[in-house]
Amino acid sequence: MPISQSHKAEFMTPAGSAPKYDLHCHSTASDGMLPPADVVARAHANGVTTLALTDHDGLSGLPEAQAAAVALGVSLVPGTEISVEWNDHSVHVVGLQIDPHNPAIVTGLDRIRIGRANRAERIAAELEKVGFHGILARTMTYVGNPELVSRAHFARALVEMGACREVKQVFDRYLTPGKPGYVPHPWPSLAEALGWIRAAGGVAVIAHPGRYRMSNKELGKLFEAFRDLGGEAIEVASGSHTPEQIVHFGRQARHYAFMGSQGSDFHGPDESYVDLGRSLPLPEGVVPVWNNW
Ligand code: AMP
Ligand code: MN
Ligand code: MN
Ligand code: MN
Repeated sequence: MPISQSHKAEFMTPAGSAPKYDLHCHSTASDGMLPPADVVARAHANGVTTLALTDHDGLSGLPEAQAAAVALGVSLVPGTEISVEWNDHSVHVVGLQIDPHNPAIVTGLDRIRIGRANRAERIAAELEKVGFHGILARTMTYVGNPELVSRAHFARALVEMGACREVKQVFDRYLTPGKPGYVPHPWPSLAEALGWIRAAGGVAVIAHPGRYRMSNKELGKLFEAFRDLGGEAIEVASGSHTPEQIVHFGRQARHYAFMGSQGSDFHGPDESYVDLGRSLPLPEGVVPVWNNW
């Protein structure tokens, strides 16, 4: 956990005096654990001046977050993290500065959420088969937005039911490809998601490239496909990247002429890599995605 480095950065830039960006986080509108207003308040308390709320496959947390941001003097960037399928991998694309009223993105995300409801029932059926009776009802007690059931909610319910001690282990044992509770799902294509983000006037960002189980060669192909489709940025400084990965993806951003984004991917106080505003900064020479905002 890069906590010590970020403490150092905080020490050198007293709260409120310097801009601080966190462009990736979640609320109860998807699989985060805090309501949107609490996410904004926590980010503000951590010195964040510009925050993007990027809930999975939806925009319903934005009005509450925006009201809280206005009250606290935080700049809120309207965002979302879209689940897509590319080359048989599930990849996440963050859209930033999107118009949340744009019909193309609104309808596209509606469609993903309908698919998620169906997937949740199939995941539950698989988990019932391996003995987790009543798993769907248990899972729903963790869900803040009934339209958005995520594997993260299943993981929390499975921990409660004693499947594993920690959420991470539940993913390794039950919720990832090849495991009993994993259900493959047809997410929209990379091209569709980028089309929606473009229609909504936003900028597309490949989320946490260090998290995909791809070789460097395949990841290069993803970056090329993304660039060919008009993608402009990758997340370089993600809370889920190691310091080495941040350096590596900083070089990759420069190589592909992508801008770099930075975000914690905060889900909740006990369940995240880093707290809001506490991911490491972008490496020198990477053009920040907020350069022309
Ligand atoms: P879904 O979008 O429903 O497939 O669920 C993916 C979500 O599960 C991600 O957004 C993370 O919040 C969470 N997640 C995925 N993999 C892991 C993991 N290995 N450990 C903890 N949480 C994970
Ligand atoms: Mn998540
Ligand atoms: Mn993600
Ligand atoms: Mn995320």
